[in-house]
Amino acid sequence: MESVEKMLQFIDKSDNTIIELETLLTSYPAIAPESGGDGEWLKVAALEKWLKDHGITTIEHFDAPDARVSHGKRPNVVVTIPGKKHNKRLWIMAHTDVVPAGELAQWKQDPFKVLVEGDKIIGRGVEDNQQGLVSSVIAALALREYGITPEHDVKLLFVADEEVGSVYGIDWLLKNTELFKLDDMFIIPDGGKGDSSEIEVAEKNICWIKVTTKGKQCHASKPDDGKNAFLANCEFALLLNAMENTVFTERNPLFDPPRSTLVPTKKDPNVPNINTVPGEDVFYADLRMLPSYSIESTLAAIRDHKEQVEKKYGVTITVEAVMSNESPPTSENAEVVQLLKKSIKKIYNIDARAIGIGGGTVGAYLREKGYQCVVWSTQDETMHAPNEYAKISNIKGDAKVFADLMVTPR
Ligand SMILES: [Zn+2]
Repeated sequence: MESVEKMLQFIDKSDNTIIELETLLTSYPAIAPESGGDGEWLKVAALEKWLKDHGITTIEHFDAPDARVSHGKRPNVVVTIPGKKHNKRLWIMAHTDVVPAGELAQWKQDPFKVLVEGDKIIGRGVEDNQQGLVSSVIAALALREYGITPEHDVKLLFVADEEVGSVYGIDWLLKNTELFKLDDMFIIPDGGKGDSSEIEVAEKNICWIKVTTKGKQCHASKPDDGKNAFLANCEFALLLNAMENTVFTERNPLFDPPRSTLVPTKKDPNVPNINTVPGEDVFYADLRMLPSYSIESTLAAIRDHKEQVEKKYGVTITVEAVMSNESPPTSENAEVVQLLKKSIKKIYNIDARAIGIGGGTVGAYLREKGYQCVVWSTQDETMHAPNEYAKISNIKGDAKVFADLMVTPR
C-alpha cells in the first residue's frame, strides 16, 4: 500500500488519541494574566511530555519573559520534523492559550473537563485552538508511524498569548528571533468554515479612531451664543460613514462586505444636563479598509473632509488613531494557497476559495513581515462560547490535509 494511503488510514483510526490529547490539554486552563490566569506553562509542559511519550522529541523553546506569571515565562515551542530538504518549510501555527470559561451555569459540564458526545468533544479551548494543534500533531504522528520523511522540514509552532494580543507569542517571536525565512509558508488553523471551503488570505487594514470636537458651551435656550460640538459630531459621523461610498469607492469581492467600512461606534458622555449645549464632544469609529487603502491615506482623507464641518459649525475637530494594524494580503496565487487548495480537494472533495476578512487575526503579524500565510481549518466556530466544541471528524479531516501537504513536493 502506498505510504500516503497508510497515513490516511492511521488518521482514520485516531479517535482515541484525539480524545486523549484534547482531554489532557483542556485540563490545564491556560488563561492569560490579563484575564486572571497564570499563563500557558503547565499546559505546554504536559503537551511536551505527551509528545515525547509518542516519539516526537525534537522540541525547542523560545519563551518570552513575563514576570506576571509564576513560571516567569510564556512558552513558545517549535516541534521539528526534519524533511528531505531544509528550505521552503511548512509551518503550522496554533496557540495554546484559551479564553476564560465565562458563565459556568451555561455549560453542560466543568468546561475544563471534556465531554464527548458522539462526534463532538466539548470543553473550553477544544476548538480554539486545540483543534488546530491536535490536527497538526496527529498528522505528524501519522508520518512518524510509517517512518515517512516529509519533502521539506515541517515545523509545528505552538505559541502563547494569542487571545490578548500576541505580545508574548508570535509578535515576540518576530521581534526577538530569526526563526522564520521568507520562502517558508504558514498555515494557521484558527478559523474557517464548517465545509472547509474558505482559505483566509487577507484582512482589511483596521484602525480605531477617536474624534474630539471642541466648540463653545452655552444655554440651550440661546443656541446661537455657542458652538454645538455634539451637533457638529453628528454631522461628521454621518459624513465619515458616507465616505464608504463617496471616497473609498473600490470594491473587492474577496471580502464580505466587499467595501471598506467606516463605522461610528462608541460615544463618550458630554454634558450632564439636557439644557446645556455641549462645548466638547467625543465619539469613536471602527475603520476596516480594503488593503489598497493604507491607514495613513485613510486618515489624511478623513482630515481633509473634517474641514467642511469645522467651518459650518465653527468647531475644531481632532482625529487620532487609537489602534491600527495593516498587513499586505497573501496572494491568491501564492504557493501555500495553491497547495492547500489541492490537498483540500483531495481529502474533502471541495473547491476551497480564497477570502478576505474584516481584520484582527494573528495572520496579520506574519503578513506584515512579508510571509505567505493563510488561516484555514474545518470548524463550526464555536470559539469563546459556552459548550465550545470540536468535531473529531473535522480534526481527522484537517490532519489528513496537513499530512498530505507535508509529503507534497514543491
Ligand atoms: Zn484562536
